[in-house]
Parts: sequence; structure tokens; C-alpha cells
Amino acid sequence: MSHASLSNPLALLNQALKEGRQIMIYGAGSQGRGLLRALRENGLDAVAFIDRNPDIQGKILSGIPVQGLSVLEPPEAKAELMVLVAAFFFEREVADYLEGIGFEQNKNFILYSTLKPRDYVVEIVDVCNLRCISCPRADRAPGRASNKMMDLETFKQVIAKIRREEPFVGNIQLYQWGEPTLNKQLPEMICHARENGILCSLSSNLNYVADFKALIEARPECLRLSASGTEANYEITHTGGKWKNFLANVETIGWLRREIHPEMKVELYYHRYKHSLGEQQQQFIADLCKRLDFEFHPVPAYIISLDDVLAYCEGTPLPPSAQEARKHLVIDLDEGLAYARQEADLECDSLRVIQVNADLSMSACMMFYNAENNTITDNYLEHSLPEIIEEREKVLFCERCKKQGMHRYCATYAKLSERIRY
Ligand code: SF4
Ligand code: SF4
Repeated sequence: MSHASLSNPLALLNQALKEGRQIMIYGAGSQGRGLLRALRENGLDAVAFIDRNPDIQGKILSGIPVQGLSVLEPPEAKAELMVLVAAFFFEREVADYLEGIGFEQNKNFILYSTLKPRDYVVEIVDVCNLRCISCPRADRAPGRASNKMMDLETFKQVIAKIRREEPFVGNIQLYQWGEPTLNKQLPEMICHARENGILCSLSSNLNYVADFKALIEARPECLRLSASGTEANYEITHTGGKWKNFLANVETIGWLRREIHPEMKVELYYHRYKHSLGEQQQQFIADLCKRLDFEFHPVPAYIISLDDVLAYCEGTPLPPSAQEARKHLVIDLDEGLAYARQEADLECDSLRVIQVNADLSMSACMMFYNAENNTITDNYLEHSLPEIIEEREKVLFCERCKKQGMHRYCATYAKLSERIRY
């Protein structure tokens, strides 16, 4: 495969189609669905998703079926398929798997990062209604300056710029450190993005009673929820949240999704702390997910802002709320960091993320909460993408971060989930 064809992903895919090969997308999550959207925007299509998750195999998503890994196994599969890998945190692992069964990169499979070198986070709300103790929203100073909500007109300008500069961005994430349902224009934003070929992923603590009907009617692609135990246990680490509100809103979302937009992916991340272990609690949430057809992902909890964790690695004590959260961790911070350091030589997935904040400022690194020493520009709209990338290089502190293995910290915790039993 020549370098010239790789620099033009559309030509690469068209060539595969000309050879009679079929395009399949590995990963039916928000990345994969966004990729499908981007293909269709560019006059192409895929015949199927491939996904490891048995719960979604056999389903039809965005008009194409979800198949299991067995579709890759026949010897002729390599010649007949072009697999596009859309798995954000696990791209390298999937590539290793494919190479292990004889597929060659850029011949039989392409990484989505080749087609779409950047992912976008558009933070439409810089406020949250909760104060989870694992999160910098709890009490961390100096915090973020803006406390703003993005308005619809500004959002439209952001979408227009993304579309101009990144034709293969099929999906964006509308959250990072805020609660997107607090923005009353959220449904219009989702509709506008979709009309412009971009799907939106959301995350919500589901404690605020938003206009959920309008939200689901806007057809977001993916909704991520979280819980950490049930009843009073939930409220320890979803601090400021109310279990009853959460549960009632989960039921509402489940019902509306079934009636209005059954294809919306809903995933519930169950944060495993010491107080949220125990078969009864986890089984309750697992059963709830099964009944509502949500994906259930139990994961070990961790302290989420790298500001605090990097400072800790460099000798500063954790802030009080993070110290409190640490007491509840099943996998202690030092243990998680030790695992992360073992992966210190791996790439950083966050490097390819462009984050636009609610006040149009831009964070150099999405994993760091504070604006201080982490701001590229005050106005995303005033700078071209090459200028932003150049400026980002000057601001980023990757060397310091990588030295501590920080860039693998979140991915490592995700991978450690198998180590925890009830
Ligand atoms: S973890 Fe999420 S829900 Fe909790 S305070 Fe932070 S942003 Fe809000
Ligand atoms: S290496 Fe660290 S600072 Fe650099 S982008 Fe990755 S997480 Fe952010």
C-alpha cells in the first residue's frame, strides 16, 4: 500500500470496493456508528458491524447487522473484507488480534485513527449538579473559570468548523466535566449535528429531570450512565445525587427509548467501590439493564482528574474529597498507578482529542480539569486547525505526564475490571 493512497482514505476505501471487498466496522459503539455515518456522508457504506459483545450480536444497528468475531475466521475473509477498526481505547489490542489471525494493517484492515486522526469533545455545559468525591467538581480549586453553557448559535458555528476541517468526524462527544442535560438547547444541538452528518454521544448522571422526551426524539447515538451501588450507597460516591431520582429517570429513559429511538445505545457503567460490591446490589443493576436492554459494564472506580493524580505522583497530597474517595477504592491509587506505569511506553489515546469548552476556550488535554496551564486558546473559532495543533504542542506537558504513566491510567483501570469479583 503506497503512502499516497494512505494519505487519501477515501481512495483507499474506494479501491477496496473496486476489488469487490466488503467494508465491515469493528466496534459497534459510538465510534463505530460515527464512522458509519461518516462513510455514508462520503458516499460509502458498510455491510456489518463486528463486535465482541454477545448481547448486541444479531441486532440491527443503523440499518446493518452486528456480527460476532467468527465472521473474520474463514481463510477467505481476508481477501473479501476491508475491516475498519473503531475502538477508541482498544485500537491497538484489536489491531494485534487482527494481525494474529493474519490480517495486515492498511491492506485488510484500517484503523479509524488513520481515517480520522482526531476525535472531538464539545463541552456544551461547564456545570454539574453533582459533586462526586472522585471528581474535581467536588471541591478542587481553582476549578474552571467559565461555569458556562454553550448556546445553540455558537454550537452551530463549532459544528460548521469541525465539518470544514475534518470530513471524517462522524461522531462527537458532548461532555467531559459537565452534565449535558442541564443545557436546555441540547435536543436542538443533537438534531443540528445529525443534520450535518455528525452523531452525538452523551453522558448523564440522570439526577436532573430534563425534557427527556425531546432529548430522545433528537436521536442521540449513545447515552452513558453511571451508578455506584444502590440506595444510600449510591449517594456516597454519586455525591449530591439522589438514588430515587436516578432510578426514576433510568426507567423513564428506558421507556422513551423503547418507544421513540430503540437504536440508541445506552451503557451503564457500574463503578465498583468497596461499598458498591456485593452481589445483591450489582445484580439489581444488572437485572435493570437487562430488562431495559442497556449494556452493563462493571468497572473499578478511580480518581478521575489527572490534575490531582499527577500532583500526587509529584509529591502533593490529594485534595480532601479525593482522599475520601480513595478510602472507598477497590483497586488503590498506588496499585492502579503501578499498572499504568507498566504501559508507560504505549501511546496516549487522549492526544488525538480536540476539546472545545463551553466558553469556546480549548483545553490542551481533556484528562486535566483545571484551565490553568491547560488552555490553548480562548476562542476555538478564531484559529485554524493547524494553528491549534501547533499551539497545543507548546502548551502540553506530555513528557511530565508520561513519565508517571499517567496517560495509561484510565485505560489501565478499565482493563483491571476482570480482576474484581463480587
Ligand atoms: S463525575 Fe460527572 S456527575 Fe459526578 S460531579 Fe463529576 S461531572 Fe458531575
Ligand atoms: S500524555 Fe498526558 S498530558 Fe499528554 S495528552 Fe496524554 S494524558 Fe494528556
